[in-house]
Amino acid sequence: MNKKENLAVEQEQPHAVTSGFAALGLSGALLKAVLQSGLSDPKPIQAQAIPPYLAGRDILGIAQTGSGKTAAFSLPILHKIVALGTKRGPKSARALILAPTRELAVQIEEMIRAVSKGLHVSTALVLGGVSRASQVKKVRLGVDILVATPGRLIDLVREGDISLAETHYLVLDEADRMLDMGFLPDVRRLAKATHPKRQTALFSATMPPEIAALAEGLMKDPVRIEITPQSSTVKEIEQGVVMARKRQKRSVLATMLADESMGQVIVFSRTKHGADAVTRNLERDGFTAAVIHGNKSQNARQKALNGFRDGSVRILVATDIAARGIDVPGISHVVNYDLPDEAESYVHRIGRTGRNGAEGIAITLCDPSETDKLRQVERIIRTRLPVLASHLDKPDPEPRKGEPTGTPREEQANRRNPGGKSRSGHSQPRKPSHTASPQAAKEKPAANRHQPLNAGKGEAAGKPSRKKFRGRRRFGRKPAAQAA
Ligand code: AMP
Repeated sequence: MNKKENLAVEQEQPHAVTSGFAALGLSGALLKAVLQSGLSDPKPIQAQAIPPYLAGRDILGIAQTGSGKTAAFSLPILHKIVALGTKRGPKSARALILAPTRELAVQIEEMIRAVSKGLHVSTALVLGGVSRASQVKKVRLGVDILVATPGRLIDLVREGDISLAETHYLVLDEADRMLDMGFLPDVRRLAKATHPKRQTALFSATMPPEIAALAEGLMKDPVRIEITPQSSTVKEIEQGVVMARKRQKRSVLATMLADESMGQVIVFSRTKHGADAVTRNLERDGFTAAVIHGNKSQNARQKALNGFRDGSVRILVATDIAARGIDVPGISHVVNYDLPDEAESYVHRIGRTGRNGAEGIAITLCDPSETDKLRQVERIIRTRLPVLASHLDKPDPEPRKGEPTGTPREEQANRRNPGGKSRSGHSQPRKPSHTASPQAAKEKPAANRHQPLNAGKGEAAGKPSRKKFRGRRRFGRKPAAQAA
């Protein structure tokens, strides 16, 4: 080996030693940028996906947010794009990443920018709910990586503002969520508009038959990677249930949140109006909370998320839109104000805490009418959730205006009275008689904790309520489902 070669080996070695990314096939400026971005050793999904993707294979990944899947598809795409150089055709995108929600798309693009600093790779976001003029402008000269939600992208393709004909890399992220949101027809249409010899990667937390069929139709002999078993919950998360009637939930929540050992908390509500009502009530009870759901403007949603992310907002109230994809480190607690309609959503909700090996606590407030849903959750997580406290033997607090009840009529009343002042003008909560402190969830509970359930027993699984787009559309009509 001559002196020059020796030097090259010495320069490469620190990367090879400090990071297994070099062993996966990443090199040069990209490897350096990845290390500088703070990514350490490859996660299992990265170790399994990057080499076959670099070798040109399609990838079918069954993995949840938190597994490291974003880097698993982004890094080999970046590697290929860097090798292509900077010559881009106008109005084109070399790679297209489709995500179901705007928040997830923003997060993916941020991640790609973070790991590609100094590489001269251009990225763009195409999302509904924000000005399209700036998006059209951004793609006019062509981009390397386009991250998009399907609805707006369909519009831009239809109107000739962007062509996918030269898109050789296609990623479908959170495909099962796309299915839930009625995006599959749009996804198929967009995939068809990409280059016929494209490389495709599809990631999904679960693999319902519709997604298996989509994968079959879009991919050629994919490498299948399964990181977390379907519907598993992260071990680090302590989970428990507090039995409380709908009318009791507000004061139970307020008492929990008064405990300062509860750090950053995300409170999940089943409905958008419920989320607004929970937020209003929290504010009346003296807490500062931000809210995020599909009826909020993109700016309001991003502002709420940024405040939560930078720690200036302690409590974020959310619908299931935020249950997947959102990666905010340091959420200590998830509170399910009510149970989700689809048991699968429980897994995604609680996965917002206990991230990257940190401890997390998930507490579910359960009205007696929700016990069927609770049983369904327990069946899919194969765990009996311990009851940390029950308020059912206590009387309901006095009815207060603005308190979400979960019934359409009462939620409608809330909407009619957005200011939420009670007739008397008082809005102070009454102290609840007793509640479960968050500490209680940390302590090892009674004997029923984490008991496996008897498989096959109990109620039939609930029918998921899917908002489906059934129309036929070839870049012609408005999307039926917007990114929630
Ligand atoms: P994701 O599943 O892609 O949302 O990733 C979850 C989190 O893991 C993100 O905060 C990533 O920044 C982080 N992450 C991904 N890969 C690595 C890695 N190799 N080393 C350290 N952190 C990582």
